[in-house]
Amino acid sequence: MSQSSDFTGDTVVVTGAGSGIGRATSIAFGEAEANVVVTDIDRDSGTETATTIADETSGDATFVEVDVTEDADIDEMIQTATSEYGGLDVAFNNAGIGGTFDATDEISEEDWQTIIDVNLSGVWRSMRKEIPVMLEDGGGAIVNTSSILGKVGEAETPAYTAAKHGVVGLTKVAALERATDDIRVNAVCPAYIETQMLEDVGVTTDEEMHAEVEALHPMERLGTAEEIAEAVLWLASDDASFATGETLAIDGGYLSR
Ligand code: NAD
Repeated sequence: MSQSSDFTGDTVVVTGAGSGIGRATSIAFGEAEANVVVTDIDRDSGTETATTIADETSGDATFVEVDVTEDADIDEMIQTATSEYGGLDVAFNNAGIGGTFDATDEISEEDWQTIIDVNLSGVWRSMRKEIPVMLEDGGGAIVNTSSILGKVGEAETPAYTAAKHGVVGLTKVAALERATDDIRVNAVCPAYIETQMLEDVGVTTDEEMHAEVEALHPMERLGTAEEIAEAVLWLASDDASFATGETLAIDGGYLSR
């Protein structure tokens, strides 16, 4: 395992690495000299992240097309980590979708299932394959992406909020199960971050909406993907050696109101 935030030679897998938080975190791991298995459902953006790491950092990267709703894709991600880089030290289970804005009694069965499948079951599916490899390797660190909506609710986001609360619960359970196996399991809970996910719903492009969302944060701004990456690297590093089951909010004060 790594010493401090130096991940030299460590193998890291990242889901949803083609954009936003996953991309920024993958690059940060590359800058910390890790070997990064960059995965995303989107081949073009994922390949772009891997190329950036290989060309612009001292780390190495391999892209694998992974849909976190597909078990076989996750197997391929793990297989690539072990065959290309000899093991698995760190996993950042981050892939997620925003989903629709519908009340609890109005969301369709299909939307509910899709959001839960990607945002919650995708994290479980990944951990289910990562933990056995880490056990074989003598330990590791897992960081899952939850949200402030893993800690509080927001109207008209029933599946997203349920999934992110689920990630918080799942993180704690896995942390308890592996506490004496040298596998730490933590989560980050970002508030609103300037990424494609928010652009898709107009938050970063519509001035009025942007101002409304800024006002939800005591710091009166949104966060950046790089600020979340910093927290992920810390949780994954030996600096966080006594932290497990932690669900760390990086939120400009959002949850302190
Ligand atoms: P983003 O849209 O920029 O990136 C998400 C990435 O996940 C994309 O590259 C996308 O192709 C990929 N993806 C989507 N479905 C996938 C699937 N089935 N399998 C594999 N990859 C898939 O969004 P982001 O803001 O960087 O989101 C990353 C994570 O952060 C998500 O879990 C999201 O819920 C969470 N989050 C985001 C915010 C925010 O405000 N942006 C806040 C809290 C939590």
